[in-house]
Amino acid sequence: MPFASSYPPIAIPRDVDLWSLVFERKQRPFPTTKEIFTSGETGRTYSWAGLRSASVEFGKGLQALWHWKKGDIIALYTPNSIDTPIVTLGALWAGGAVSPANPLYTVEELTFQLKDSGAKALVTQAPFLKTAIAAASKAGIPESRIVIIGEHRDHSGRFQHFSNIRNTSSRGHYAKATVDTDKDLAFLVYSSGTTGLPKGVCLTHLNLVANLLQGDYVEGNQWLPYGGYDGKGDKQLGVLPFFHIYGLTCSVLLTVYSGWQLVVLERFDMEKVLQTIEAYRITFTYLPPPVILAFAKHPLVDKYDLTSLKVLHSGAAPLTRELTEAVWDRLHIPVKQGFGLSETSPVTHCQRVEEWAKHMGSVGKLFPNMEAKIVDESGNEVAGDEAGELWVKGPNVFKAYLNSPERTREAFSPDGYFKTGDIFRRDKHGNYFCVDRLKELIKYKGFPVPPAELEGLLVGHADIADACVIGVEDPAQATEVPRAYVVLRQGVTASEAKAQELSEWVASQVAPHKRLRGGIQFIDQVPKSASGKILRRLMRDQVRKESRAG
Ligand code: AMP
Repeated sequence: MPFASSYPPIAIPRDVDLWSLVFERKQRPFPTTKEIFTSGETGRTYSWAGLRSASVEFGKGLQALWHWKKGDIIALYTPNSIDTPIVTLGALWAGGAVSPANPLYTVEELTFQLKDSGAKALVTQAPFLKTAIAAASKAGIPESRIVIIGEHRDHSGRFQHFSNIRNTSSRGHYAKATVDTDKDLAFLVYSSGTTGLPKGVCLTHLNLVANLLQGDYVEGNQWLPYGGYDGKGDKQLGVLPFFHIYGLTCSVLLTVYSGWQLVVLERFDMEKVLQTIEAYRITFTYLPPPVILAFAKHPLVDKYDLTSLKVLHSGAAPLTRELTEAVWDRLHIPVKQGFGLSETSPVTHCQRVEEWAKHMGSVGKLFPNMEAKIVDESGNEVAGDEAGELWVKGPNVFKAYLNSPERTREAFSPDGYFKTGDIFRRDKHGNYFCVDRLKELIKYKGFPVPPAELEGLLVGHADIADACVIGVEDPAQATEVPRAYVVLRQGVTASEAKAQELSEWVASQVAPHKRLRGGIQFIDQVPKSASGKILRRLMRDQVRKESRAG
């Protein structure tokens, strides 16, 4: 029998799109003047009403300038900025969908996403223009459709600054687009899924509306005993990247819906994080495990007043019990954990604050309105609290990968469950524990690294005959790091210098999180199945065994 959520079902409206959920609801528990987004760098701020009107103006501008219509995709290639939510929400108002990309992507990586998503316009910041222009040109996006946001200006006159696109006129036939919430996309995020290269995950309005309401139900009001969660006082640090679904949903959208204040940092820097928490009296934040590690270990932590922090939340990669305890011992701040994937918009499980100490190491209970199975290799449910692959169903689960019917089919069971590719067990109280990963994805500090992409790159090098890339644990950084096992071509000699040279070459071709920080090791043969599939898991299990023995 599949497991139902232990929470009662909640009402998830099918006729409310994402824009209407965050901006049109009747009982909003905070005033329109509430400050919502504040730049931790400059102090610039948007109130809820300011955000709403700027987003409508941007949406009208898209309709006026480029005849924006339902389904048009706007791509984002920018670090965090308080202007990003305006572009995002404005595009949704105009009926478009948003496809965010990592601002450290190379020209090739960005070009792939622009072409694959069919983006009509690209939003960036002035310091990122060089790559943005090159990728836009390769993807056939004219320069006039490159939009600049943020503090830096570009004076070349070749690009649109988003403040010029904003259309404040009340004349003209501009109107919020009507969308079919169960069909029309809100976001097109890129994930490598269980295998292969990145692919577009189609997330509908309904997927996002569901995940916000599920998140609000589980997170909402639980902090009253800890001093409030009232939509007035809570302040979140916005340091998760907004280009990843974790930051997009939990930092950007939940903030607008809940009336928190999000103090936005452009990028992660521990000293800036600590300064900002002290200066703004931040009450909580969503983070990946390596930043939780910094709270446990970083020497600067002791220099700042962090007494405003009620809780830290960890997601995107495994959090160990030891790390949770280390933060508690040092700071007396609870660290709770959640779990999710791009394909589930993203959250499927989340601990409530009162559960963090009782069930340490758990990712919490299944979100309301969801069902789950834990299955063995044949797809049969396991008994008791045995471990198996987690399969989930629910309104936040995506329907398809873009233009990939075969991969979509492979991702679902015949009875409609999404196969997460993660190994879980569940205790008798309904707490879930993520114990391993079945799929081949590697996560460096929460950022996805698809091994097939690095292998493809490596075998394109003249010295390399074959390659296999796996993730190896680096406990000192609380993350996995990608390592390549490489078969050299005949006549090429294996040496430390060769490994270094190849590693530097890879680094010059990919975004920084994909660098081979786990090193390059030379082998005679890549282990493969009879059908020629690289047996990355076999390799990974062998490395784990060796490192335990050593
Ligand atoms: P992404 O699509 O980039 O959000 O990556 C989703 C993957 O991140 C999941 O399938 C897991 O492998 C991993 N992940 C996310 N949260 C956790 C967690 N709390 N513990 C372990 N792995 C996690």
